[in-house]
Amino acid sequence: MSLPAVWRTRKQRYALMGEICKKCGVKIFPPRDVCPECSKPAQTPYSFSGKGVVYSFATVYQAPEEFEEYAPYTVAIVKLEEGPMVTAQLTDVDPEEVKIGMPVEMVTRKLYEEGKGGVIHYGYKFRPCIE
Ligand SMILES: [Zn+2]
Repeated sequence: MSLPAVWRTRKQRYALMGEICKKCGVKIFPPRDVCPECSKPAQTPYSFSGKGVVYSFATVYQAPEEFEEYAPYTVAIVKLEEGPMVTAQLTDVDPEEVKIGMPVEMVTRKLYEEGKGGVIHYGYKFRPCIE
């Protein structure tokens, strides 16, 4: 695969990709191919801005093994600008500073590593918006 192709794939994998309903315009995340509002098929890809606000959150002190090095960490339900809710880990923030309504944005971060020198899994997290 050529380098530009690799980058295109990466962008697709790490952007917050959902779908938009062509019938009623509702934006859907995660993608489910059916509009939750009008029940029509919705398979048109839509790239979310990755910005939203903290809707609710919980701090995890007893983490599963693969997340141990990050504990304590905060898992939040983020209400995206476009409407849908997404559950994700927060990053770059002190758990005590997390507030409901806090503006956040998506970033790509290491999620966990499979054993020593194993496969590193990346995915999205949210961090406070830098105004
Ligand atoms: Zn719809």
